[in-house]
This record gives sequence, C-alpha cells and structure tokens, in this order.
Amino acid sequence: MSVASSRHFLQIPGPTNVPDRVLHAIANQTIDHRGPDFAELALEIFDGLRAVTRTSGEVVLYPSSGTGAWEAALVNTLSPGDGVLMYETGHFAQLWFDLAVELGLRPEILPGDWRTGADPAAIARRLRADAEHRIKAVAVVHNETSTGVVSDIPAVRAAIDEVDHPALLMVDAISSLGSIDLRHDEWGIDVTISCSQKGLMLPPGIGLNVIGTRALRAAESAGSRRSYWDWRPLLEAGRKGYFRYTPPTNLLFGLRESLAIMLEEGLDEVFARHRRHGAATRAAVRAWGLEVLCADPATAPGTEHSGALTAVLLPPGHDADRLREVILERFDTSLGAGLSKVAKKVFRIGHLGAFNDASLLGALGAIEAGLGLAGVPHRPGGVTAAIAELTGGADVP
Ligand SMILES: *Cc1c(COP(=O)(O)O)cnc(C)c1O
Repeated sequence: MSVASSRHFLQIPGPTNVPDRVLHAIANQTIDHRGPDFAELALEIFDGLRAVTRTSGEVVLYPSSGTGAWEAALVNTLSPGDGVLMYETGHFAQLWFDLAVELGLRPEILPGDWRTGADPAAIARRLRADAEHRIKAVAVVHNETSTGVVSDIPAVRAAIDEVDHPALLMVDAISSLGSIDLRHDEWGIDVTISCSQKGLMLPPGIGLNVIGTRALRAAESAGSRRSYWDWRPLLEAGRKGYFRYTPPTNLLFGLRESLAIMLEEGLDEVFARHRRHGAATRAAVRAWGLEVLCADPATAPGTEHSGALTAVLLPPGHDADRLREVILERFDTSLGAGLSKVAKKVFRIGHLGAFNDASLLGALGAIEAGLGLAGVPHRPGGVTAAIAELTGGADVP
C-alpha cells in the first residue's frame, strides 16, 4: 500500500474523479422519490441530459452500470433472431457483441484492428448485401475506451443512408458523453447509450438511454422479453418526473450538479479542454519515444484520436502492468490496464471528466518518472513537450 499523504490520482478512463460540488450534493439526505421535490429534480435532470446529448427526444435512466444501458437499448427495440451489425473497435465493442449473443439476437461483428475506428465503407458494403433487411440495427461504440479511438458517427449514419437501409443506429456514448461532442438529433442516432461514471463525473450507478422517434416506434413491436429495462412504463412515469421503481436518488442529486458544472463551463469549452489534454498527452508520448495505440497519422482535432483517454504501447518485452504497479506504489496514481487483446501491452491514461492542466502535468510527471523506475526505455522530456502543447496552442487564454 502506498502512503496517501494527499489526493489519489485516479487517471483511469472511468470511473473518473468526482468534483467536490458533486460529492457534496450526493451527501444530502435522501428524499421521498414520490414527492414533489423529487419530480422537480428529475424533470430538471431530463432537461439537462437533453441539453448535453443535444436532443429533443426522450431520456430514460436506470439504477445500473453502462452494461445495463446496453441491454436496455437492445431488448427495447429488437426481437430474438434480429440481425445486429457491430464493428470491432476493441474490447467494449466485443463485450456488447457478446451480450447481444446472450440475448438471442443474431449479431455480427465486422473485424477491426483495435487501432482504428469503425469503417463506414465496410458498414455500407455489409448493409448493401442485406437486401432482405435482416439487420435491424447498427451498433457502434463512439469512443472505444480500450483503445482511445473515436469513430466517426455522422459517417456511419451517412453509410446507412447511402444504401437506404432501415436499420436503427445505436451508439455507445459511455465514455464520450461529456468529453467528446455527440449530437443525438443532428447525427441521426436512434438510441444513445451512456452511464454516470465517465465524462459525467459521477460515481458508477446510473445508466441511460436517449431515444429517438424511430426507436420509440420499434419499441412498440419489439419482441424481446423485458421488464426491468422496459422503456414504456419508465417513460410514462418520467413525464411527470417519477420512476417506476426506486431511483438512485443521491446519485441524481449529484447528476443535477454535474450537469450544472458542464453547462456553466459550456459544452464546446468542455470538449475543447478534452481535445487539448489529448493533444498534450500525445505530445508527451511522442517525446518519450513511445507509440500511441490509435493509429491515425493525423493529429489535428477531428481525427480518431480520443480527447478522453490515450492508450500507450510499451516496447516489446516490457510489461505495462508492471509499469502501472510501480506508478501506483510510488506515486499513488492509478492508470488504466490494457484489456483482453492488448493486456500488458498497453496502459491507458484517462484525461476525462473533472480535470485540468495541472492535474494532467502531475499525471504525466508520475508516468515519466515511473518509466525510469520500471526500466522502460524512453527519452525524457515528455512533460516539457506537454507543457509546450498546453501553453502554445491558439485557444489558450
Ligand atoms: C465503461 C464502458 C462500458 C461498460 O460500462 P459498465 O458501467 O462497466 O457496465 C461500455 N462501453 C464503453 C465504451 C465503456 O467505456
């Protein structure tokens, strides 16, 4: 155990650091979830989530992790045996695929290399071959948290439209919501899936679906068995600000606060801050002479590089988990592990949620020092390069 003489650095890509304002809000007394104060809270939260996801559609919340919100999206819109087209961006896309198999759907996953985003041309090709429209949904992870690669959702929508395919578009925005721009209505998303413990800066415990009109229509005839996840009774109760079952009241106090924090900073500013932190982190990695897992050669905003996290490859023969262990022990700093296919090969730096320049430099300093202590070959100067990136950019005040 490390001696915690100050605040732990939680630099994993979720759960993320919870702002004090949010913690204090959560610490309020639990209230009657059937009383008028609760209804006011819930209606305010639904509005705030509509603002953050840029929708005029419906929002459903669950006391759940993100996995529950994945399941909810599938069982509310699909019937057993329905085709679902997915794209193997990484570990989370694979987990969502596995879940769809267990639900009795017929998902297929287009193979990916875990270094690039979903390929809209490959999706269009597959949909064009589906003349009988057996594929009922296209399901894509927006920000693949295992790789730090962002997929171009408007391009996926355009691919579906280009071949005139009626499939619904479902987007896992679990680690993008609140850190990377996402526009539910404008991008033609039918179901957006997210949860509380990543960009929304809350502890784990709230899952959510944002639902467009086509998905609502699909829910009327979807044949999957569902009870807890059923949108219909939740939407009905939600219109008046209530839940069908006991909601996670104190987390909702926190959510009201975190939405207020985000809207006070301004969504565009929040996303720009994440982009800057991503760029500064990549500058550090380049200076160390290490490789970023995301293979996009471009570095400007709008590329596949994530503003929420950066996955870093270690040179062959070096164990990323050993490096993480050294950094945790010596600097009380938690970094994300490489997952499944890239286990031990990469470590992940979370730079999403409640985060600022000084915290980023602290985390990068701990990593640079840890690389030395763990004997990973690298060049010094990563922190210096990050400072140059943070202070040299045009949008720095
Ligand atoms: C964290 C995460 C999940 C899983 O969420 P849980 O809350 O652990 O169920 C799914 N997809 C993505 C992209 C994630 O980052």
